[in-house]
Amino acid sequence: MTRAHSSAIGLGLMLFCTALFGPLSLAQDGGATQPQSLEDAEWVCDRANNLQFNGSLANESVQWQVDLGPRTPGSEPSAEFRQSIKENVTSWGWNTTEQIHQRGDMTLTNLFATYPSHDNLKRKQIIISAHYDSRYMADHDANESNRDLPVPGANDAASGAAVLFELARIIPSLNLSEEIVLFWNDGEDQGNDSIDYTLGAEAWAENLTAEQQERIHAFVLLDMVGDADLQLHNVNPGNQTLKDRIILLGSALGLVNGSNACNGLNGTDVIQYNKQVSVIDDHIHAHALNIPSIDLMDTRYGEAKFGTFGTYWHTLEDTPDKVSASSLNRVGQIVELGLLTQAFTFEEPDEPSIVSQPEQQISETEATTSSGNTSFALFAMTSLAFLAIGVIALERQLKS
Ligand SMILES: [Zn+2]
Repeated sequence: MTRAHSSAIGLGLMLFCTALFGPLSLAQDGGATQPQSLEDAEWVCDRANNLQFNGSLANESVQWQVDLGPRTPGSEPSAEFRQSIKENVTSWGWNTTEQIHQRGDMTLTNLFATYPSHDNLKRKQIIISAHYDSRYMADHDANESNRDLPVPGANDAASGAAVLFELARIIPSLNLSEEIVLFWNDGEDQGNDSIDYTLGAEAWAENLTAEQQERIHAFVLLDMVGDADLQLHNVNPGNQTLKDRIILLGSALGLVNGSNACNGLNGTDVIQYNKQVSVIDDHIHAHALNIPSIDLMDTRYGEAKFGTFGTYWHTLEDTPDKVSASSLNRVGQIVELGLLTQAFTFEEPDEPSIVSQPEQQISETEATTSSGNTSFALFAMTSLAFLAIGVIALERQLKS
């Protein structure tokens, strides 16, 4: 798809968002603050111009995680990761808890950090999640002799885990009215087929009570967000309102091609929501519970390679040099601005999300990327072919 084309679609979506939101007001809890609106460009830009997220610190965390060694479930590096996160975020005022689940021969440990740390059941809750486990085998490595080795996992998924860690540093100073839960989930990437993926997030969702589900306004997932050549794709399934809001936030930050950013510059082509990709990822379990969910994910890591998420994905090439502070900064800024503008909060419990149902669910092992237009073209060509066969068959029948 050409740049011009995606820009036109992006602009179309933007216009659609504006029409959709109308005068949407995002009042804060307590009613003391004036209602504000996401499409009030000046108000959004006031916040966009004063963000604190530091991509360089997040990048340091990526290197640190990779240096720990493979963070496979139950391993020493996995325990070291959690210990360090807990010590740091506790010193920044967060409350941490762990959930342990047995899945087959794996002991999974989900790690949660909550802010404010004192319980207030009236607060709306936003969950931001990333998996922190790294894959036990580089089964897509070009070199066959590497395929039994564990991946370094710089982008998949130290990147998302690092963005959460940096968010933990800055969130206490944002004075948010919502309760934020940072959820480092385990056992996302240890499967051999689609049913063995996203196990930690699945276990978490299975154990939510109805009351807990009701408090959650959004589940925001970050996966493979550090690629130096960052492109965020439109991942299905996902909540359409959250997707629309991500485009608004990205436009303000100069991440949508053809839009005007708060800094007055033309947007770059980072948010590519014209490209739809079906992905089985951690967010599907919250989504299945009707919790508004979104997966911020770059589905092309390295060169595009059919049936995969790119040539570096699940290989020994997934190293820190492929990840950049700038990309981590962009994703962190999207989330920070989203929190500051209450883009992940709903006035009323969101109605069941309208999602375009994927024709087939695709796991990380069987990833297929296609733009909507390519799918349509294929569908049209197949239909035409069947039509032609039908006409020929009919002709033959008539002739005989
Ligand atoms: Zn993976």
